[in-house]
Amino acid sequence: MNTRTPTDQQQPPDSQSPEPGSFATALARNRDFAAAGGHEGAVVLPTLRVFVIGCLDPRVDPAHILGLELSDAIVVRNVGGRVTPEVIDDVAFISQIAENVLPDGDLFEVAVLHHTQCGAAALGDDDFRRAYAARVGVDEAVLRERAIADPTASVAADVDRLRGSKAISPRLRISGHVYDVVTGLVATVVPAE
Ligand SMILES: [Zn+2]
Repeated sequence: MNTRTPTDQQQPPDSQSPEPGSFATALARNRDFAAAGGHEGAVVLPTLRVFVIGCLDPRVDPAHILGLELSDAIVVRNVGGRVTPEVIDDVAFISQIAENVLPDGDLFEVAVLHHTQCGAAALGDDDFRRAYAARVGVDEAVLRERAIADPTASVAADVDRLRGSKAISPRLRISGHVYDVVTGLVATVVPAE
């Protein structure tokens, strides 16, 4: 069956892929991963003591753009990489676990990572936002705040929001960064503190 699109043709065909574009391709890669022992030696406490909050855009996968190996970092991704109440809860959860395991010193660096050309800009469009608010049953004002027009500004605001939360550990260092999808480079906007 020929279901290839012009986009697919930009990628060299993978001889391991049973059905290009399907999860079966990922499952086939998992077999190779396990056969090569890729899972061995992974640890629960992340090796780099890093917690990344990033966007779900496939162009900005932290494992790739930051060269993260398995169990190097905790990664949470959502639309825009925004510090939502749910993300704060996740950081608080890890705070509590880490405080029990590590009695002294810094626990983690939490790196908030926004990016250029982010699709979260769509939340700045009145029609799109209104329809999406109705679809998910969320207050439009909340969604307006999650729009990303300027990633440098939004990442700074999210670092402030996280630093201002009482739920997270004071032993966390928090930083903010912007990934440029054109150059492939990450620039630090707010250094760790
Ligand atoms: Zn994005």
